[in-house]
Amino acid sequence: MNLFDKTKLIMKQNNISANKNLGQNFLIDENIVNQIVEASDVGKDDMIIEIGPGLGTLTEKLLEKAGRVVCIELDSKMIGILNKRFSQNKNFELINQDVLKTDLKSLIKNNRINSINKVKVVANLPYYITTPIIMKLLEEKLDIDSITVMVQKEVAERLADKPGGKEASSITCTIWYYSEPKIVLDVPNTSFIPKPEVQSAVVKFDILENARIKVENEELFFKVIKTAFMQKRKTLVNALVNGKIFENREEAVECLEKIGIDEKIRGEKLTLEQYNDICNSLIAKGKNI
Ligand code: SAM
Repeated sequence: MNLFDKTKLIMKQNNISANKNLGQNFLIDENIVNQIVEASDVGKDDMIIEIGPGLGTLTEKLLEKAGRVVCIELDSKMIGILNKRFSQNKNFELINQDVLKTDLKSLIKNNRINSINKVKVVANLPYYITTPIIMKLLEEKLDIDSITVMVQKEVAERLADKPGGKEASSITCTIWYYSEPKIVLDVPNTSFIPKPEVQSAVVKFDILENARIKVENEELFFKVIKTAFMQKRKTLVNALVNGKIFENREEAVECLEKIGIDEKIRGEKLTLEQYNDICNSLIAKGKNI
């Protein structure tokens, strides 16, 4: 039976219809499922955290390849189906929870059995919370090796861009600080039921062993970046003065001049190193926010 018919059958047998509010678009293309698993580079010494397993399409393949698969699913209607399908698998663990409220550090610690070498996140993400999930995975500094996720294509382009690039946003800077991102697969909307309006893509983030640059005060660093992007249409100087990073225009211009940045530049054009130069100059002036 092909994946489309199998998905339809599971939904019919369990009287399930996709819940739009939970971002439910189920994969029905076997080829895409295989390519996601391949891109994730899953092996027997890996523990996989799957966010939003849904009916278990990706889960089934992950269970064949991984040492352990820990799934986090919010929709309790899916829990019965997943347990029926996989509870006999020794390497399967299911948690009925909102991933944004899950203590992932403890989850990794508790499930990391001796045979596990690396922890990887693999998911067809619920699109309505793509950004908070990725931010959580990166900012909590979890002991993970990579994150391979399906997201909206347009979002993927932003996530995989470099600071200073055309699509850069503050999340681009966070991602670039912690990881090496790349788009590994374009996915047409015909690969899901129900068919979403937008096209999708799979992005892989290889987590760097150490952050890409050395930063003295991470809180200040990300505060400056967020402030710069909060007012994208303004110049960097105006954004940083309005956001109270600098007390006034003169102070901001003087700082940028000293580190060789044009005062007319917009925040999205800066590299991580240049943001760090601004922070170091603030710290040198005793402004260690
Ligand atoms: N993995 C399945 C597939 O590829 O066919 C389903 C993917 S579907 C795009 C997203 C899944 O995330 C749904 O099963 C949905 O119920 C689940 N979900 C939505 N919000 C969630 C949350 N806050 N925490 C955990 N799972 C969530």
